[in-house]
Amino acid sequence: MKRKLSERALGLAPSATLAISAKAKELKAKGEDVIGFGAGEPDFDTPANIKEAAIKAINAGKTGYTDVGGIIELKGAIIEKFKRDNDLSYEPSEIVVSCGGKHSFFNLSLAFFEPGDEVIIPAPYWVSYPPMVELAGAKPVIVFAGVEKDFKVTVDDLKKALTNKTKAIVFNSPSNPTGAGYTKEETEKIAEFAVENEIYVISDEIYEKLIYGGFEHVSIASLGKEIKDLTIVVNGISKTYATTGWRIGYTAGPKELVSAMTRIQSQSTSNPTTISQWAAIEALSGPQDEVEKMRSTFEERRSIMIEGLNDIEGVRCNWPQGAFYAFPNISGVYGKSHPGGKIGGSLDFASYLLSEVKVALVPGLPFGDDNCIRLSYASSVEDIRGGLERIKEAVSRLS
Ligand SMILES: *Cc1c(COP(=O)(O)O)cnc(C)c1O
Repeated sequence: MKRKLSERALGLAPSATLAISAKAKELKAKGEDVIGFGAGEPDFDTPANIKEAAIKAINAGKTGYTDVGGIIELKGAIIEKFKRDNDLSYEPSEIVVSCGGKHSFFNLSLAFFEPGDEVIIPAPYWVSYPPMVELAGAKPVIVFAGVEKDFKVTVDDLKKALTNKTKAIVFNSPSNPTGAGYTKEETEKIAEFAVENEIYVISDEIYEKLIYGGFEHVSIASLGKEIKDLTIVVNGISKTYATTGWRIGYTAGPKELVSAMTRIQSQSTSNPTTISQWAAIEALSGPQDEVEKMRSTFEERRSIMIEGLNDIEGVRCNWPQGAFYAFPNISGVYGKSHPGGKIGGSLDFASYLLSEVKVALVPGLPFGDDNCIRLSYASSVEDIRGGLERIKEAVSRLS
């Protein structure tokens, strides 16, 4: 190229999680016997009723552009979902549908953040939050809570990060990558903090339905009028309905912000895929028994994964309340050696496992915690058992 790329693009790293999945796929394509725990998506097929709704939409000729922020029928289904599941009331003007929850968060960042703003992001965090905040020119302020705090920040932690530039805090419960879920009491404390200091809460509730062991998800927006006015809920159908490729996410919040996000969308993507929008109505409003089947399958796999990990020397894993990830602390093996080198951190450990025993997982570093690794249990019981055995073997070879 004859001219340089933008600073914006030059400073942007690719998504670490997508990169590791690509690497595992590449090895598999070469015929290598790889067990992949890198995936950030359910391994289930999309339920039949959702697929049929899409086919019906195609056959009915629902294939043109729609309203930029989503068809009114889908907004209606989303409003119903908020009432039914979260005891929250919204108007259509407070809802915007985007091309996945990631796109929702991206548009939100562009519409709401600018240079000079600070956005508190609890760590470990979803890999995409800091880059999206930075793309908007704002500053991510990372507040860390490690394994000993069950990866949950307290109001005391948040107070230390608060300045007069703090505009919002990102709240992701249950969390990717840790699976940690905030209890109602913990959520109330965060809500009080936000109201007291008049800062917004971006609540990413994409894993609200994938919860285990009796954990109850409480939307922070449902805790009172004041906090509702300060909360922007980001959600989507990808994880709950095994529809990651369909690209439907949505945002609920103040109508000025929703309108700004819609304007950004009108000058960039236009509407999310029409066919997927019709399918999303079926996902949200149709029978929910497939969701429960997938959830209980994840719960069984969770037990096998967490017990297996805790059975490996030097590995310590908390029980996640939701999502489909284990996030064990592996600092117990740091400093140990193998013929090819030394394990100094999560990147070393991940690449050691991939080359030594062909197990792909994501190092904790890009999530903001180099003492941990992320393993997705959105894979078969057979793979989970086999993969755990391989990891145990690889760890036992370290000295
Ligand atoms: C997967 C995920 C999303 C959104 O995914 P989309 O497919 O873009 O809807 C948002 N937040 C977190 C934490 C996720 O893990």
